[in-house]
Amino acid sequence: MSENKSVTPTSYLEFNVSQLLKEETGVIRNFAVTAQLLFDTEQTITLNSPVTGRLKFLSVGHNILITGTLQATVQQDCGRCLNPFDTRITIELEEEFFPSVDVNTGSSLSHSAEVEETNLINDQHILDLSKITQQEFVLAAESVRYCRETCLGLCSQCGQDLNIATCDCDIDKTDSRWADLLAMKTEIM
Ligand SMILES: [Zn+2]
Ligand SMILES: [Zn+2]
Repeated sequence: MSENKSVTPTSYLEFNVSQLLKEETGVIRNFAVTAQLLFDTEQTITLNSPVTGRLKFLSVGHNILITGTLQATVQQDCGRCLNPFDTRITIELEEEFFPSVDVNTGSSLSHSAEVEETNLINDQHILDLSKITQQEFVLAAESVRYCRETCLGLCSQCGQDLNIATCDCDIDKTDSRWADLLAMKTEIM
């Protein structure tokens, strides 16, 4: 059996790390990832491609440090015109994972309160990277709020998509790019 078989990626970004947990500090597993990941339905983004990339698993003490980059095509609704649009997004990962049971004895291990539940390896030695990956893609997508920087948005009166056509509404056609700022100013006043 080749060494890399001991960390088996599944389509859900879950990895069986029982072998790696038995290794000494400094042992590394490198591999390529292609995963179909479904995001929670309450998220504002969806994925329009598999998640692909390269990950490095490093054995550190009894823990596993994961570093690497993942890419996916993310779909979200434009903050101005509300049309869905795609962005190719790359995230950088650097996450430490902690076993919840001792891999040799099976007895449970306790961790400090600072250890997030998303960073626990379960009692079957499955390391689930999907929650953290989702969080990182949601975070990265927030910095790409508009289908394009010059998106004109919708007419506040009739709802016409001003990227497609103008309308005859008799309103102050203030550049909608400043709408957020104006709303903020109004609140302050
Ligand atoms: Zn737009
Ligand atoms: Zn209008």
